[in-house]
Amino acid sequence: MKRGLIPWREVRTWECTACGRCCIGYRVPLKMDEYIRITKLYGYDVVEVGMGKVYLRRGPDNRCVFLRPILGRWVCTLQSMKPLACKLYPFRIYMRPIYSREDGSAYNYRGKTLHIYLDPHCEGIKPGRPSEHFVRHILPEVVEIGLGLRWKQRYTTSRRIHWPL
Ligand code: SF4
Ligand code: SF4
Repeated sequence: MKRGLIPWREVRTWECTACGRCCIGYRVPLKMDEYIRITKLYGYDVVEVGMGKVYLRRGPDNRCVFLRPILGRWVCTLQSMKPLACKLYPFRIYMRPIYSREDGSAYNYRGKTLHIYLDPHCEGIKPGRPSEHFVRHILPEVVEIGLGLRWKQRYTTSRRIHWPL
């Protein structure tokens, strides 16, 4: 649901705390190439089909089957093949504003105007005036991942746990 999304200009910064909440109860859709890569390595038990789409399977506790508790934090053990939907969370990129033309979501990337919002359910969001780090590092990385120009995450993954990518 789009209502409640926060325009990026209302966010000071964001950092994933590895709370793992976004990996509970959420159906992660897979693109075809992601589906092929993941099932080739992990088999078909880790995916499920519904409404004509393929998703990562959730366990009996409703958590994604790739979520594991490590060092007191919840860690994604699919790091090297993390689906695009997971890499982008809690960010959403749209071609048009969802509230109004001046809702603080407009973001210029190489002459193209995109509209960026954050899902308010993520605990890593710090409200306020956008910091230099957020504008210079985090937002460009989100956009480049979303546009398929970049694959590796540097600023958009949790730094609480050092995980070999
Ligand atoms: S993206 Fe947000 S909700 Fe998901 S694990 Fe990180 S802090 Fe938690
Ligand atoms: S693949 Fe990783 S980030 Fe995505 S829902 Fe599963 S555990 Fe969470």
